[in-house]
Amino acid sequence: MKLQITTSLLILSMVILSCGQSNDKANATSADTNQVATMDTTTEKTYAVSLVNNKKDPTCGMPVTAGISDTAHYEKNVLGFCSVECKNEFLKNPKANLAAAEIK
Ligand SMILES: [Zn+2]
Repeated sequence: MKLQITTSLLILSMVILSCGQSNDKANATSADTNQVATMDTTTEKTYAVSLVNNKKDPTCGMPVTAGISDTAHYEKNVLGFCSVECKNEFLKNPKANLAAAEIK
């Protein structure tokens, strides 16, 4: 009987210890995740105009300063687009549409 109590105490303390460890890990991980998530939202929401080489969305002609939702690499340029649809449309025939992008 005494051995049983000692064993269960031992198991209990091991569980408590392991719980404490996993909590620490979980806290550290969630803190890391929060940082990454914050970074992601800032990069996902908008692309800086300085990051792209075109002045205008080549598909719809909208100036990139109005907001860039997506970008595409074409030849040596990074092109900004107002929407994914505009990017996809451009990529169907990039050569014909490149002039409209007004590369800086
Ligand atoms: Zn557009």
